[in-house]
Amino acid sequence: MSKQSRRREALVYHAKPTPGKIKIVPTKRYSTQRDLALAYSPGVAEPCLEIEKDKSNVYKYTTKGNLVAVITNGTAVLGLGDIGPEASKPVMEGKSLLFKIFADIDGMDIELDTKDVDKFIETVKTIAPTFGGINLEDIKAPEAFEIERRLKEELDIPVMHDDQHGTAIISAAALLNALELAGKKIEKVKIVISGAGAAAVSCTRLYKAFGAKGANIMMLDSKGVIRKDRENLTAEKMEFATDRKIDTLEEAMKGADVFIGLSIADIVTPDMLKSMAKDPIVFAMANPDPEIAYDLAVATRDDIIMATGRSDHPNQVNNVLGFPFIFRGALDVRATKINEEMKMAAVKALAELAKEAVPEQVNIAYGETRLAFSKDYIIPKPFDPRLIAKVPPAVAKAAIESGVATEPINDWEQYEEELLQ
Ligand code: NAP
Ligand code: MG
Repeated sequence: MSKQSRRREALVYHAKPTPGKIKIVPTKRYSTQRDLALAYSPGVAEPCLEIEKDKSNVYKYTTKGNLVAVITNGTAVLGLGDIGPEASKPVMEGKSLLFKIFADIDGMDIELDTKDVDKFIETVKTIAPTFGGINLEDIKAPEAFEIERRLKEELDIPVMHDDQHGTAIISAAALLNALELAGKKIEKVKIVISGAGAAAVSCTRLYKAFGAKGANIMMLDSKGVIRKDRENLTAEKMEFATDRKIDTLEEAMKGADVFIGLSIADIVTPDMLKSMAKDPIVFAMANPDPEIAYDLAVATRDDIIMATGRSDHPNQVNNVLGFPFIFRGALDVRATKINEEMKMAAVKALAELAKEAVPEQVNIAYGETRLAFSKDYIIPKPFDPRLIAKVPPAVAKAAIESGVATEPINDWEQYEEELLQ
């Protein structure tokens, strides 16, 4: 499809027949006067009073428990940058659509007109009683780090900044599987991370939680290798700064086992790829154009295991594999947080699912004949109907075991059946 016709199609899709991508629909009867007297005054006073007596009844009588706010200030939208709150709305509505179709969660998009960290946090805290969870989205680093950290501390509902953790979770699952295929140990591999923004920092932290060693990691930003002796490093960059006296990506790539790209297009050259170790793992995730084009990378080395952020190549690192299912699991046990244990459980569930036999309907959905665990299939596909039955229970169990679930599940078989409905 040409760029021009895709543009036209996307604009018509958003404008017709109704502007936007989501709407609210009633879930109760509303056809008689009696129905209305229950839905609104006077009947509605009864649940109000029950909730006034015991706040947790809000989960019993309202939408709170299945309602997630998708909140942004529009400062780091897709690869488009700081385009403002109104312009970010199509993306947030899109996220709501994905919450709905993949996990039957109602996502409400909220676009805030502020770049002030304190005001942002205060606003989210003020509206938090409405929601069962908060999905922070497309907020620029480093502000995003503080906003998420403080909201997690100060709220008792799950809060997750998806640009950080979604990517981290999906790419960690892909990394574990790629390492298995390459016959390498995470504790031993040399990892180059290009980018030091929201996604890169969170990915690197999660890889370390799975055993990657700080001494084997080299991170780069727009100025080159992040060395300890560089001036004015943020706390996040300092966390990954190296003692090694090198400056460029070219030097960092020599002998590296893993390249993680969360930066910008076309900065990796074929020569750099050739200088990497045997069976190199290259996750070039800059969107829409990766750090090295897929076709160029696989033409340069036939032992490469490659992933990108794009749907037109194998191994798409796509956040949609994460957030719907992670929030589903967290909401279903009424977790007070999304903690490291829950994220790691999601990683393991995704990694394991990729190793199971793929149902025929997934092959059909993707026009494939036989998807199977291999270099070209290291993570599940978004339209895999098994995701909803596998990932939320893993997340919910981890929430229970780590002590953040307030409504534990007892009958797991029944829960899985409910998820599949
Ligand atoms: P961000 O917070 O703005 O961070 C971008 C980082 O890239 C910054 O640290 C920046 O350096 C660095 N950078 C810029 N030019 C560079 C260069 N020539 N070499 C090395 N680093 C360079 O953005 P983000 O949210 O982390 O996202 C980063 C990229 O990853 C985007 O392309 C985004 O689309 C992509 N991404 C993909 C997925 C996915 O595939 N699922 C998910 C999330 C993000 P400074 O710190 O010096 O400015
Ligand atoms: Mg995003």
